[in-house]
Amino acid sequence: MSLKMDDPDVYQAIQSEVIREKYTLNMIASENYASPAVIEAQANVLTNKYAEGYPGRRYYGGCEYADIVEELAIDRAKKLFGAEYVNVQPHSGSQANMAVYFSFLKPGDTILGMDLSHGGHLSHGSRVSFSGSFFDSVAYGLEQGSQIIDFTQVSDLAKKHRPKIIIAGASAYPRTIDFEKFQDIASSVDAYLMADIAHIAGLVAADLHPSPVGVADFITSTTHKTLRGPRGGLVLAKEQYGAKLDKGVFPGIQGGPLMQIIAGKAVAFAEALKPEFRAYQQQVINNARALAEGLTASGFELVTGGTDNHLLLIDLTSRGISGAEAEIALGRAGIVVNKNVIPFDKKGPKVTSGLRLGSPALTTRGMKEKEMKVIADLVGKVLEKPSDEKNIEKVKGIVLELCRTFPIYEHLEQKEGWQPHIVVS
Ligand SMILES: *Cc1c(COP(=O)(O)O)cnc(C)c1O
Repeated sequence: MSLKMDDPDVYQAIQSEVIREKYTLNMIASENYASPAVIEAQANVLTNKYAEGYPGRRYYGGCEYADIVEELAIDRAKKLFGAEYVNVQPHSGSQANMAVYFSFLKPGDTILGMDLSHGGHLSHGSRVSFSGSFFDSVAYGLEQGSQIIDFTQVSDLAKKHRPKIIIAGASAYPRTIDFEKFQDIASSVDAYLMADIAHIAGLVAADLHPSPVGVADFITSTTHKTLRGPRGGLVLAKEQYGAKLDKGVFPGIQGGPLMQIIAGKAVAFAEALKPEFRAYQQQVINNARALAEGLTASGFELVTGGTDNHLLLIDLTSRGISGAEAEIALGRAGIVVNKNVIPFDKKGPKVTSGLRLGSPALTTRGMKEKEMKVIADLVGKVLEKPSDEKNIEKVKGIVLELCRTFPIYEHLEQKEGWQPHIVVS
């Protein structure tokens, strides 16, 4: 009567993932380590329940406890973000964006979002996504020199194309986003403004990044990045849009909500309302800065020269190594990052000239500025000699030591009869 007995194959793969997460340095800017409480809230009988509809108005019987869970999640999210309306049902960040478009746009309408190659997200109008396929999408980007958002271009494109909606938000942008400026432009062309805070939601919740709540018409987010909750999505809005958004999420683009994930969201929002969460987010920012300084000292060039938030982009152009090669070399040393295109990248998305690094997960482990300097140095050592196996082994030893000094998920590791092995790809 346990996963270990019933399905050893899946059990082993999950245990291997536990080991991987414990004994590697996770520097993927969009990831984090959810708390044991958040993980527990997602692994239970709520997965059995159909609860189409909303608390108090469901299409199924037996929803009394599902209602409690969803109401807790909604109330806590309202408090956390100071929002009038919240929908906690979107299965992911992309679904949250789809729900907004479905509620307020018609196929063929024009949308204006940030170029994927400049740091935007697939769901902001990329051709390979539903957002660029169902809508006529136009993209703004960054200024060539400063590498910050080109508001003159945003404004010019808005005037020229008269989009129905403007999307502010990014997946790989290391600087503060000025939502007020976006709102001024949106108002001037009578467009809706959607702020997608998927990456920075934790910083926004902690008042460490200007909030788009009360500024933008719609705010969408994930719950699993800096916010450190379960994998999922979220929509916030002014009350006036609530009825349409409710219908847009269900039955518009989804069926039954994932009640076990909504339970995880409720737990995560309560955690984010605690003072420790603000301290954590402040440390996330401090650590990203320390990492940026360390990398700069090791001779790396950073997009925009640094960071205001939880992530940074290394420009590898002058280092004679691609993002793809760098990702593999660092991975062998137990430092997990992702290759990323940089603004005006001459290489494609499968190769890239950049790396995206973030501090949220390492900060959850309890690491501080001192460790960031050590890690910046390790990144430098690996990328100096990416095919020197001896060197990589040495770095891997230091990585393992750091992981042991700053443990995570101690309770999830099965110690008996189980040999941890880290697969080196
Ligand atoms: C991560 C991200 C999303 C999408 O999240 P998924 O849950 O992977 O669908 C949407 N927008 C932005 C800006 C993101 O960074």
